Amino acid sequence: MSLWGKYKKEENIEKLNQDIESDILIIGGGITGLTTLYYLREKTDVVLVEANSIGEGVTKNTTGKLTFLQGAIYSELEKNRSKETAIQYLNSQKYAISLIKEIIEKEKINCDLEKVDSYLFTNKEKELEKLKKEEQFLKQQNIEVQENSLPFNVPYLKAISVSDTYVFNPIKYLNQLKSKVKEKTIYEQTKIKKIEFQNNQYICYTDNVKIKANKVIIACHYPFFILPFLLPIKSHIEKSYLIAIKANDYKKASCINISNPSISIRYYKEEQQSYQIFLTESHNTAIKQNDQENFEKVKQIFQLKEEEIVAKWSNVDIITDDKLPYIGKIKDQLFIATGFNTWGMTNGILAAKILSDNIKETENVYQELFKIHRKNFYKCKNLLPNLTTSMLAMIRSKWQKKKWYSNNITFQKKKGKTIAIYKDEQEKEHIVYATCPHFGCSLLFNETEKTWDCPCHSSRFDIDGKCIKGPSSYDISYKK
Ligand SMILES: Cc1cc2nc3c(=O)[nH]c(=O)nc-3n(C[C@H](O)[C@H](O)[C@H](O)COP(=O)(O)OP(=O)(O)OC[C@H]3O[C@@H](n4cnc5c(N)ncnc54)[C@H](O)[C@@H]3O)c2cc1C
Repeated sequence: MSLWGKYKKEENIEKLNQDIESDILIIGGGITGLTTLYYLREKTDVVLVEANSIGEGVTKNTTGKLTFLQGAIYSELEKNRSKETAIQYLNSQKYAISLIKEIIEKEKINCDLEKVDSYLFTNKEKELEKLKKEEQFLKQQNIEVQENSLPFNVPYLKAISVSDTYVFNPIKYLNQLKSKVKEKTIYEQTKIKKIEFQNNQYICYTDNVKIKANKVIIACHYPFFILPFLLPIKSHIEKSYLIAIKANDYKKASCINISNPSISIRYYKEEQQSYQIFLTESHNTAIKQNDQENFEKVKQIFQLKEEEIVAKWSNVDIITDDKLPYIGKIKDQLFIATGFNTWGMTNGILAAKILSDNIKETENVYQELFKIHRKNFYKCKNLLPNLTTSMLAMIRSKWQKKKWYSNNITFQKKKGKTIAIYKDEQEKEHIVYATCPHFGCSLLFNETEKTWDCPCHSSRFDIDGKCIKGPSSYDISYKK
């Protein structure tokens, strides 16, 4: 469970049990979907459906930084796209921070929002030039940048910092935002499995009911459909590992490096207790697949002792080829927000504003930058690598598991399908189908979090096979 998991409220969950019609349907109740609902709250006919419960998705596992200092994004955008694109992206992130601050202040949301300095650093000689370019770009945009010593216990050669950035508790934000839109219709435990366009309307199917809507917003992180958007060929999945410890001190600072794998650290303070969150070992899920080994590396890198750890978790995000999110209209009245490149706290808020403006037919200056059908050469250049990594993820998952799975997991063939049997500490068997229903990749057991994770497109299943993260529309539970 992530550090934020303990803030989830146990509430009465309303599940959709009958067919309904609505003008607008939002699918997904993470930071993107719920904030979109907030911006559309004056509309009378809007419904949000969530497969699990609000805030159970990727948002629950984030680091919770609200910053425009995002690795070497600006020099990369400047090099690969244009200076204009980099400037626009910077402005969009500052705008997103101002939007969430506005919501938090207006709605008096207590989510431990704290203004902190953001640091960017490198420990590699060969990356000094890259860091200097980032610094130069920010200074040119009149951002006050300090060359500073890094207030964290990690080796570095150069560090820069900016102010006017924030950290917060994303689950406290979602809990309280939910109560601010309580007059709106939210259905939880309601998973959309299929969507069809008929007679100028969308029909969205769950297992047993359907919702007809004129406009649909897909805010479910990874879309559950392949066509017409084809996200798998435009992106890959990145996974990172996080550990939180109780801290004796508290610093108003957060940091990230410009190297790969990422190193990211922040503090969190709640009343008298402060925590430090460490993130590293980020990797394309096609490349490394042994979660337990990766958690061990996090402990080693930050010299953490097992007894001081209060939470350990992993998280995945979608990395787009051109490092810009996809936000806008796919076709007709079907909208999407995805591909946040591990910066979905700002980009999720931004997406909510852009999509709600789209629905209200109000111009938004950032809609062009993030539009779905943007033209760029990355699509062609990365098509093959993306397909290859997907295939590689599939192939590696098939042979790797045999190499390092622990003895408490065995595999068997039942009617031509592979099933996996996990024996817990009480010798209870938990049996699942070992293949992801989405694309057929072999699932990998995440020993630390006791989940079955898909290396291809990031679906996750609990120990008994319930799908806890899409794009898979189906569970993998095996009934004897
Ligand atoms: C390790 C890590 C650290 C990060 N740290 C930061 C950070 O510090 N700052 C930052 O800006 N960003 C950060 N991010 C990125 C950020 O966490 C995500 O981009 C963001 O949370 C995505 O929000 P979302 O609302 O789009 O998705 P989610 O939070 O996943 O919400 C989608 C919701 O849709 C639901 N859903 C899915 N399928 C269906 C369906 N078929 N029917 C109904 N509901 C469905 C899910 O259950 C889920 O609740 C980080 C990412 C990672 C991987």
